[in-house]
Formats: sequence, C-alpha cells, structure tokens
Amino acid sequence: MGIDRQAFRALSYGLYIVASTEGDRLNGQIANAVMQVTSRPPRIAVALNKENLTHQLVENSGLFSVSVLEEDTPLKFIGLFGFKSGREVDKLSQVKYEVGETGVPMVTENAVAVMEAKVTGSVDVGSHTLFIGEVVGAKVVSQETPMTYAYYHKVKGGKSPKTAPTYVEDKMEKPEEERREEMKRYVCEVCGYVYVPTKGDPDNGVAPGTAFGDLPEDWVCPVCGAGKDQFTPED
Ligand code: FE
Repeated sequence: MGIDRQAFRALSYGLYIVASTEGDRLNGQIANAVMQVTSRPPRIAVALNKENLTHQLVENSGLFSVSVLEEDTPLKFIGLFGFKSGREVDKLSQVKYEVGETGVPMVTENAVAVMEAKVTGSVDVGSHTLFIGEVVGAKVVSQETPMTYAYYHKVKGGKSPKTAPTYVEDKMEKPEEERREEMKRYVCEVCGYVYVPTKGDPDNGVAPGTAFGDLPEDWVCPVCGAGKDQFTPED
C-alpha cells in the first residue's frame, strides 16, 4: 500500500503551548501533539522534540503545562513560540502567564484553557519523547474557539479565500502569464509560512492583492521574522 503522507493530514490536532521550568529558567514551545490519555486520574501526553529546550526542562523537572490556543491567536505570537529558540530568546518575558502550583509557567495569553501536569512516564519515540503527565491543575481561561491545526494551516497560514477579491478583476487586462506571476505564492524557507497575494499581510499593513515582488524590501515573515530573501516561489 505504501505510505501516502497526505493521510496523516486527516488526523486532527489542536495548537498548544507546552511550557516548563528548571530553576529560574522558563520556556515554552508550540506543540500540536497533545492529547488526554486517561480520565481517572486525568492524564495527558505531549510529544516534544529532543532538540528543544522545553524538552530538556520537562525531562529535568518532571513538570509541564499546556495552554490551548484560541483561533484568533496572532501569527507573531505563534512564531515566537514555534520558530524561535528559548536558548536565544526569553519567550515568557514577552507574554502573559501565570505560575501554577507546581511552579510551571502557564501561558494565559491567547489561551482557551491551561493545565499543569507532573510527568508519570515517558516513551522514547526516536526524534521525540512522549511525556505522559498527571494533571494536577486545570482551568478554563476564555470562551473563545480553540484553534485546530487545520485552521492554522488553512486560514492563518494562508490558503486563497473562496471568494475572488475585486483586485483580480482589476488585473484581468494584463497578460495571463504576468497575472499568474503576480498571484504566485511564496513559502518561507525558515518556518513554512506561505505568503498569499490574495490575502496580503493586513496585520503588517500589506493590502490583499499585493504581489510578493511588490512587498516592501524590509517586509519580514509575519511568523518567524525571516527576510524576503528567505522566501521561494511555491511548487
Ligand atoms: Fe517564516
């Protein structure tokens, strides 16, 4: 049968921040592999890459927290936790968080719910470790809609909107090839963010319908901060 990797995309996930602490060091990272594994006692599992600082902190402290992010979480916020290393940036100093009873930081900014857990077991799964933890505290932070991984890719990461915006009509008179060039999507080589001309980058003052080539030279990836030269055309 072979392995069609597209099949994995059918698995649904959320988008979370997993955070931990060791001494006075705090860090957190984006994770999509988080799930509840038992109800009594309540246990959750998270898969963390062994190379990440958060992995090191969880391994050493035996503690972690999970923040469930809401749909409206800005890309920049996700970029801070997903594409910057805690070895270079103090991420927690830039966001709102609370300290749980175990001492772990729980990021409350853009969170729908937070929980803290004590590690009860771990499984070495190669590139990652699956940490299983017993939840010792959990609370709902807001009534917003939790972000799914699919939503993050489709809406935040940028697929063309279903309805064709007006500017497409404006460009109808240009030669087909030129139009196609202007509508070309560009991928950030650093983080995978896709610049979609039909969407633009309104958060940073770029109107929908702006071709990649027309972006200001100092424009940077809204997720990871990489410059324009880090982008390549899609396909
Ligand atoms: Fe990027």
